[in-house]
Amino acid sequence: AKAAGRNALRFFDPQMQAQMSERVALEKDMRTGLQAGHFELYYQPKMVRGRITGAEALVRWRHPVKGFIPPSEFIPLAEQCGLILRLGQWVLRAACERLALWNAHPVLGQLSVAVNVSPREFHEASFVPQVLEALAGTGADARRLRLELTEGLLLQDVEDTIAKMVQLRGYGVGFALDDFGTGYSSLAYLKRLPLHELKIDQSFVRDVLTDPNDAVIARTIVALGTSLGLQVVAEGVETEAQRSFLERSGCHAWQGYLLSRPLPVPAFEDLVLEHAPD
Ligand code: C2E
Ligand code: CA
Ligand code: CA
Ligand code: CA
Repeated sequence: AKAAGRNALRFFDPQMQAQMSERVALEKDMRTGLQAGHFELYYQPKMVRGRITGAEALVRWRHPVKGFIPPSEFIPLAEQCGLILRLGQWVLRAACERLALWNAHPVLGQLSVAVNVSPREFHEASFVPQVLEALAGTGADARRLRLELTEGLLLQDVEDTIAKMVQLRGYGVGFALDDFGTGYSSLAYLKRLPLHELKIDQSFVRDVLTDPNDAVIARTIVALGTSLGLQVVAEGVETEAQRSFLERSGCHAWQGYLLSRPLPVPAFEDLVLEHAPD
């Protein structure tokens, strides 16, 4: 009886209840926010050998009352409650619309755009048709779209994952394995996935100059990716010293605050045009 009493107490913990109703409220706001246009895509440039070759689309939520809410707070919630499916579709559509708008431009039309896809979205039966519909519906060039997947995807139904990737690959869509080194992926899968790109997680990049283990990990990922014919992209590059270390390690592609934070479209376009060779 005592144990049950303790459980009951925990269940009615007011702090937990407050957290619960906060989540429910956020979920409801996300639903309405999607319709009301409170979400926006920011773009972070990717630099390859001194040129901006693409951008990663990162979602931003401007809550009418709470202000800016970072993705680290609402993406996990959206994944839990299933809203990630609608949010993901919105992101995909918005990124494809942007690609289509840039398409005719001599400089912006060269850019690829990377979209983050959560495992839950990718495992939906309708995922492939939805990507194709976003491309066809906007007129975006599939070869400029890149999907960023995480290793968590491989925990579930590897054969289905590979089949979907191969199918989209057939239309020209490219794939990046995001946050590489933090997850569970077996190296055996790596060569079976039709990937273009491996992204070194920023947790290894951060201390690459001060932590010998991180330096070894970064160098090993570069060697592994390069030998598999993949482009290796370092994320979270903040200093020139990190960039030059990576460069010397054979990593010629990177993203990070050293070049730019994720930017709203007009500022992103200005940055790309400033960096364009004449
Ligand atoms: P991610 O895909 O690993 O994205 C990189 C994150 O690192 C972004 O955070 C970016 O703003 C941040 N970042 C970039 N350069 C630097 C740097 O030099 N230093 C530091 N400290 N951070 C840097 P953000 O935009 O807050 O996104 C966080 C995560 O939320 C993303 O991690 C991704 O997993 C998820 N996310 C964002 N947008 C979407 C989306 O549209 N769909 C899905 N499914 N997930 C998304
Ligand atoms: Ca990413
Ligand atoms: Ca990442
Ligand atoms: Ca991440």
